Amino acid sequence: MKEFQGVVGADWLFTADEDVDTYRDAYSPLWGEPNEYIPSAAVAPADVEQVQQLVRIANRYKLPLYPISTGKNLTYGSTAPTYSGSVVLDLKRMNRILNVDDKRNFAVVEPGVTYFDLYTYIQEKGLKVWIDCPDPGWGSPMGNALDHGVGYTASPFRDHFGSHCGMEVVTPTGEIMRTGMGALPNADSWQDYRYGVGPWVDGLFGQGNFGIVTKMGFWLLPQPEAMGTATVTVPRYADLDPLIDELNYLEDSMLITGMQEWGSPLGGGFGARSPELSALMAGGWPSDEQIEAYVRAHGGAAWQVRLHIYGPEPVIRASWEYAQQRIARAIPDAAFELEEVLKLPPTRGQIRSHERQPHDDHLGIPNMITFGMMARRPNDPDNPPQGHVDMFCIIPRTGQGVRQVNRILYDTERQLGMPSNASPFRGPTHWYHRCYLMGALGVPSYRDDTPDRSAKNRRSRQIYATALKNLAAAGFGLYRTNVAMHDLLVNQFSFGDHSLRRFQEAMKDAVDPNGIVAPGRYGLWPKRLRDQSRPNGPDAPAAAVRK
Ligand SMILES: Cc1cc2nc3c(=O)[nH]c(=O)nc-3n(C[C@H](O)[C@H](O)[C@H](O)COP(=O)(O)OP(=O)(O)OC[C@H]3O[C@@H](n4cnc5c(N)ncnc54)[C@H](O)[C@@H]3O)c2cc1C
Repeated sequence: MKEFQGVVGADWLFTADEDVDTYRDAYSPLWGEPNEYIPSAAVAPADVEQVQQLVRIANRYKLPLYPISTGKNLTYGSTAPTYSGSVVLDLKRMNRILNVDDKRNFAVVEPGVTYFDLYTYIQEKGLKVWIDCPDPGWGSPMGNALDHGVGYTASPFRDHFGSHCGMEVVTPTGEIMRTGMGALPNADSWQDYRYGVGPWVDGLFGQGNFGIVTKMGFWLLPQPEAMGTATVTVPRYADLDPLIDELNYLEDSMLITGMQEWGSPLGGGFGARSPELSALMAGGWPSDEQIEAYVRAHGGAAWQVRLHIYGPEPVIRASWEYAQQRIARAIPDAAFELEEVLKLPPTRGQIRSHERQPHDDHLGIPNMITFGMMARRPNDPDNPPQGHVDMFCIIPRTGQGVRQVNRILYDTERQLGMPSNASPFRGPTHWYHRCYLMGALGVPSYRDDTPDRSAKNRRSRQIYATALKNLAAAGFGLYRTNVAMHDLLVNQFSFGDHSLRRFQEAMKDAVDPNGIVAPGRYGLWPKRLRDQSRPNGPDAPAAAVRK
């Protein structure tokens, strides 16, 4: 710690309990328990040279470092390290916006730059590009992308890691490296062509622990002239399949690249079900015929999807016209509504004017509206949790995938004797292009002082781990998870007797011989700590010997 202090100064090394406590995960499902993931200290360097010096010191003492950018990864672990006792390497002071180019449409940022910072910079300079942000605007393009985070505008920009181009990395031995064209001295194309030559290594830093990223480039969407918002409603439960097929065509042909927002007038979201829907589900999972009869008896609309179309107004109108023709051919009694074509940039009033939903996210405007989520739940209004641990699994873009996941959740609820919340009408989420995610669960987490806090958190962990395993057994893997579940999740990806993990471990041992960068992140442990892994989840004993 003295050596660290020599690098950053006394003000930027945090060892006192009240400081280190702020680096605990405020949403931890293990709050106050022996297995909670807690750091021993935190250190905040000012620049790349200081990062290099800290890494060299950490190597001498085999001291694990856990790098974070803005550390707002709530629900997935926030600032808590995957290995208790690690020192959090807090990069928030490195917060320079290095370049925003609205001719070639990219930005280069340091770790501590937030979405609010980047948005404000672009607005103040009058640059004609958009950012794509996740729900919480206080996070960082870099930290979010490095955990494979997602947003709400057009594809491919919603996939934040997928739309990055070029990185600068401090390696686990303290060298400085640039990827892609950044490795060629004097190249001006670092943010234009990402592969450079030879094997592309950028993937190792997404959900990985192969280095500390200190600069990162992102492709940006040129500010569109307009955004169209339109809704398709289909009458039958079985219409889900042809509707998804048509949307796949429109998406993969790049005709409609905005996010699809799925729903059902019959209640497919989180929260309490209607009494009628609960009655339908009371005797077990209903047959398709029973569901169709229920739809007919309750208004005759099974699914609804809102589409966002970006571009010049004539192109939006033409794309929408073509989409209607295609969908009507496949589903003759589908209903269509063009809600609006909003000219951009919007006025301040227009951002929030839409009667169904504020527009911020779909216009790339960072905000904090989301934090109302799960504070008070409809099915438990008097006992708001202090946090939540979310679960989204990857499914193929098929109706079958949607139905299977909804059914697995229902079966899991029954298996665990939980109050049933599952619904046949829950639709997919469309953050990534070319696949769907199903918002499977959001279990509550508690850090109150009540005597039953641990029991409530244990129950949440049990529900989460059971659903995770049930989904994985049917081939549905989560795209991301809380630090408490990294080992459990990665352990499900077992093809070839865990050959993928063994390959990654071989690389980890070569690149990080002292195992100092984020040990345990996404189940990837350095050799000397491999017996720390918990392949069966946080409540199982650490595995003494692993495959
Ligand atoms: C209500 C709610 C809604 C949410 N909605 C969304 C959403 O719409 N989309 C979404 O993606 N997320 C969402 N999240 C999750 C999370 O809040 C965001 O992803 C957030 O942007 C992540 O925090 P951050 O940007 O500060 O990243 P950080 O916490 O800084 O980084 C995330 C992780 O990446 C690694 N990392 C970070 N920086 C570095 C680096 N420089 N070098 C090496 N490794 C690094 C670390 O392991 C770190 O733990 C939501 C959370 C909540 C609570």
